[in-house]
Amino acid sequence: MRKFAALLLLTSFVVCPISLADSQPTPDEVLTRLKQGNERYLTGISKHRRIDIERRVETAKFGQKPLSTIVGCSDSRVPTEVVFDQGFADVFVVRLAGNVCDTAGLATVEYGVAYLGTPLIVVLGHSKCGAVDGAVSGAQFDGQLNNLMRMIAPAVAEARMDHPKASHEELLDAAIQKNVFLTMQNIMVGSPPVRKKLKSGEVQIVGAVRDLESGKVTWLGRHPKESEILKYP
Ligand SMILES: [Zn+2]
Repeated sequence: MRKFAALLLLTSFVVCPISLADSQPTPDEVLTRLKQGNERYLTGISKHRRIDIERRVETAKFGQKPLSTIVGCSDSRVPTEVVFDQGFADVFVVRLAGNVCDTAGLATVEYGVAYLGTPLIVVLGHSKCGAVDGAVSGAQFDGQLNNLMRMIAPAVAEARMDHPKASHEELLDAAIQKNVFLTMQNIMVGSPPVRKKLKSGEVQIVGAVRDLESGKVTWLGRHPKESEILKYP
């Protein structure tokens, strides 16, 4: 009953997950579609077929059945749907500065995986990320930004340990990758329902970084310690 009440609460602010006609693809198939979408975006041959009026009406009427849950940065230069050439109801997106995943973000990922049935989770970082740069620089802010810096700090510390003689730019690039893996780890460690889906193979989680200048997404693959993390009960 509590579970049902929680679902009702979620559906009150997230569109109801009524299934569309498409059959559910595998995690690898979704990954291929996103890779192909980024290739289309890079070559300027964007389809954008799925943002037309018919698609809008269809998804409004029958609900959403997105392909992937994507955790990205709020940076206005990284619009998730555009980067992967996707349309309405194709991707379920969490965007917070520094592509971190706090409690609300984690709950949103769980909703995407458990209730919308997305077979793939992507954590998407990007080059020149201001949030990660702030953490690398040890910047101090007023308000909640300091908490954000603390969330990213472990990634910076690990990058610094691996690259003790790196320049600021090199360290930033390394920290951006580490921060993607850190968020992947936080999702896996923090969410028993997501872990269960990952263990069964129904769902995959992969990391990626988008270069701001070229627009190209570099795929980082699965977390190097995934099998270790998934041993948690
Ligand atoms: Zn950013």
